[in-house]
Amino acid sequence: MTKKIFLSIVSICGISVIAVMLLITVLMNNKTAELAAEQVGNEARLIASAVEKGGSDYLLDTEFSENIRVTWIDSGGTVKFDTDKDADSLENHADREEIAQALQTGEGSSSRYSETIMKKTVNHAVRLSDGSVIRVSGAHSSFTAQFLKLINPILLILAAAALFSALSASAVSRNIVKPINDIDLEHPDAQKNYKELAPLLEKLRTQNHKVSRQMDEIQSRREQFSLMTESMSEGLIIADPKLMVLACNTAALKLLGTGSFTMGQSIYALNNSDIFRRCLLNALGGRRSECILRTGGGQREVIASPANSIDMVCGLVVFIMDVTEKQELETMRREFTSNVSHELKTPLTTIYGTADMLASGMVQPEDVVQFGGNIRGEAERLINLINDIISLSKLDEDSAPHENESVELYSLAEEVIGRLKLSAEEKGVAVSLTGEKVSLMGSRTILSEVMYNLCDNGIKYNVSGGKLDVKISHAPKRAIITVSDTGIGIPKQHIGRIFERFYRVDKSRSRKIKGTGLGLSIVKHGVMYHNGTVHVDSESGKGTTFTIELPIEKKNNEQGENI
Ligand code: ADP
Repeated sequence: MTKKIFLSIVSICGISVIAVMLLITVLMNNKTAELAAEQVGNEARLIASAVEKGGSDYLLDTEFSENIRVTWIDSGGTVKFDTDKDADSLENHADREEIAQALQTGEGSSSRYSETIMKKTVNHAVRLSDGSVIRVSGAHSSFTAQFLKLINPILLILAAAALFSALSASAVSRNIVKPINDIDLEHPDAQKNYKELAPLLEKLRTQNHKVSRQMDEIQSRREQFSLMTESMSEGLIIADPKLMVLACNTAALKLLGTGSFTMGQSIYALNNSDIFRRCLLNALGGRRSECILRTGGGQREVIASPANSIDMVCGLVVFIMDVTEKQELETMRREFTSNVSHELKTPLTTIYGTADMLASGMVQPEDVVQFGGNIRGEAERLINLINDIISLSKLDEDSAPHENESVELYSLAEEVIGRLKLSAEEKGVAVSLTGEKVSLMGSRTILSEVMYNLCDNGIKYNVSGGKLDVKISHAPKRAIITVSDTGIGIPKQHIGRIFERFYRVDKSRSRKIKGTGLGLSIVKHGVMYHNGTVHVDSESGKGTTFTIELPIEKKNNEQGENI
C-alpha cells in the first residue's frame, strides 16, 4: 500500500513539475522571441538612420555587438557590407523574405530556425532613402535549447519531489492504514471514528454474522451427528482418501478393542491387521468390501463402502458390527445339522443292517427275536430323537403359538412321575414328590416336557437304590420346581455345557444310557419360554439338583435370557 501511495504521489509530483516546467519554458520562449524581434527591429531602425546620416563610414567605424549581424544591401540585392562575412562572398539577397518586404514596404522581418545550433535567428530590414536596405539579424535560443538548459533544475526538483513523496507516502500510508489495522475483526462496531470505513465495517459485520450463523449450524449438525452415532451399537468410522479418521464413534473403538484414539490419526491406529488393511484398500479401489475380524473379545463384521464423488473415491464409510453371537449361532446350526444327521444315521444303519440280515435268511430262527428287539430299540431311539427335535424346533420358533393357560405344577409333577414309574422301578430309584399346589400361567405341554426330562435324567443318571426328589414350592410371584437326585453327578467342567444341543458328558458311558443329548436343551428353552431361570448344583458321585424358578404371571412374547 505504501508503495502504491508513494508511486501515486511521485507520479503526481513528477507530472506537475514537468508540466509547470514546460509551461514556463513555452512562455519564456515566446517572450524571448518577442523581445529579440523587438530588439532587432529597434537596432535596425537605429543603424538605418545612422547610415542615412553617416553613410558607409558609420558602418565601418562602428563596433557592433557580437550578438547582432548587420548587413547593408543595395536596392538590387547585392551585399555592400556585412559584419560577419566578406560582402563580396555573399550571394544576392533580394529574394530574402525580410529584404523583399523592406524593398517593397519600407520594413520587413523574418525568423529562421537552425537545427545545428538549436537557435532561432530574427531578421529585421529597413529601407533607406536611397533604396538600399539595412538588415540586422539577432539570434536567441530555441524552445528545445531553453528546455535543455532547464533540465538540471527539473531533475533536481524531481529528485526533491521523489524524496518528499517517499516521506509523505510512508507517513500518509501509515496514517491511512492505522485505523484499518486497528479494526477489531470480532467487534467491528468498536471502530466508528472514520465515516470512510463505515462500508467496510458494515461488510465485516455482515460477514461476521454470516460466519457465526454458519458455525452455529455446523456445530449443531456435528452435535446431532455425534448424538446419533454415539447411540449406535454398531461402530461407524468415516475416513478421508488418505485413511485419516474424520469421525469415529465410541462403539467402533469398543468393538475394535482400541483404548485411546485421537481424531485425525490413521485408521490403522484402530486395527492394523492384514485383513482389515485389505478390506479398506479394496473399498478405496471403489468396491464395497467386507471382512470378519477377531478382535475386542469377539468377532466383528466390517463393511467398508467407498464414498464416491463423480469419478473418484473421496472417502470411506466403515461399519463395524458385533457378529459374535451370529457366528456362534451359525456354528451351532452347522453342528446341529451335522449332529442330527449323525444321530439319525447311526440307528438307521443298525436297523438297515439287521433287517438286511433277517431278509437274506442269514439269521437263525432262535435269534430272530433278539434281532427284532434290536430293530425296535433303534427305532425307539429314532422316534425319541425325532420327538426331541420336533419339541426343540417348536420352542425355537418364537412365533409358534403355545397355549397360555393356568397350570397347576404339583398335579403335573404327579402325572410326570406316574409316566416314569416303570423306568424308576427298573432302575431301583425311589421317587418322591413334596411341596404344595402352585399354579402359574403358561404352557402345560412345555412344562410337562421340562419336568419329564429332568425327572427322566434323575432316574437315568442315578444309581440302583438311589433317590429322586421332586419338590414344588413358591416364593413371592414365583413358582419353584426342584428336582434332585442322588445319582452319578456331573463333573464341574461339564456343567456349563450340559444345556448345549447333543452335549453328553461321557459319550461312551452315555451310550449305555439311552438319550439324545437334547433333553436339557428342551428344558432350557422351555424355561426361557416362561421367562424363568434354571440353576444346576451337582457333585460328581453324589448327585445333582436342578432348580427352576418361574414367574407365576407369564408375560406373552417375552423370552428370558438369564439362563
Ligand atoms: P441326554 O439325552 O443325554 O440325557 P440331556 O440333554 O438330557 O441329554 O443331558 C445332557 C447330559 O447331561 C447327559 O448326557 C448327562 O451326561 C448329563 N446329565 C443330565 N442330567 C443329569 C443328572 N441328573 N445327573 C447326571 N448327569 C446328568
